[in-house]
Amino acid sequence: MKPLSFHGSHIIFATNHGKVVAARTPFEKILSARVDELAVDSDSLGTFSGEVARPGSMLDALRGKIRLAQSRTESPLLLASEGSFTSADGFGLLMHGIEMLMLVDNRTGVEIIEQHLSHNTNYATATLRSPTELADFLPRIHFGSHALVLYPEGVPLVGNVHKGITEAAEAERAFHLCAALSPSQSVMAMSDMRAHLNPTRMKEIERCCERLATRLSTLCPQCGSGGFGLTGTVPGLPCVECGTPTQRARGEIHSCPFCGAAKELPRSDGKTYALASECEWCNP
Ligand SMILES: [Zn+2]
Ligand SMILES: [Zn+2]
Repeated sequence: MKPLSFHGSHIIFATNHGKVVAARTPFEKILSARVDELAVDSDSLGTFSGEVARPGSMLDALRGKIRLAQSRTESPLLLASEGSFTSADGFGLLMHGIEMLMLVDNRTGVEIIEQHLSHNTNYATATLRSPTELADFLPRIHFGSHALVLYPEGVPLVGNVHKGITEAAEAERAFHLCAALSPSQSVMAMSDMRAHLNPTRMKEIERCCERLATRLSTLCPQCGSGGFGLTGTVPGLPCVECGTPTQRARGEIHSCPFCGAAKELPRSDGKTYALASECEWCNP
């Protein structure tokens, strides 16, 4: 098999939220690749604000976007992006976001997946009962440069979600409309996570694009194709006190999406021991 190279390639990014601006520079710099946008109605596959339920996993969502693109273009290289935002501590004090990218090579059907986890997010949700509570919520999401979503509590969402709000007067107007519709006079608020209205998220998508472009430029030692990179971990990092292998990862598995060649590498963070507090033996 002739090695597959992504250098100088042309990639089609299936998105309807302008994410191509996050992809162009990293792909150009790292791979001399050109990225163009194909507008697909990815909102039909699920929305952050919940009018359309999102599919099961991030991978399902990515494959859905790729399928939409495949019905519209014959281009061999398709890219899709998906983000997920949750509370990292279970209390909503610490939030984090996962950005995931999938590149599909239509010539071979191979999927190459990259992800990026970050605490740099303005993701927040709240139940608001007064304009004062609204005013307190806005700075949390960097309102103005970042957009707001409001909807009434306790009524169906379709037709009642106010998205992409960036002006204070508009926020207040939407708040009163929502409060009037809600049986409890409560308004649900959240940061608008659509990339074109969320510069913080756009920056993190760019980070993820850098990681993917770097992976695509990494050649498989066996077949010479691009895309060699992290696909899993091996548990067994030894405890610093007693040396017993722990559940923490001892190493990383890097593999080739085309020929399946794999090798175990040390952890990229350089850690060679687990804490005694992470050891089943020292801290059962
Ligand atoms: Zn290979
Ligand atoms: Zn131990």
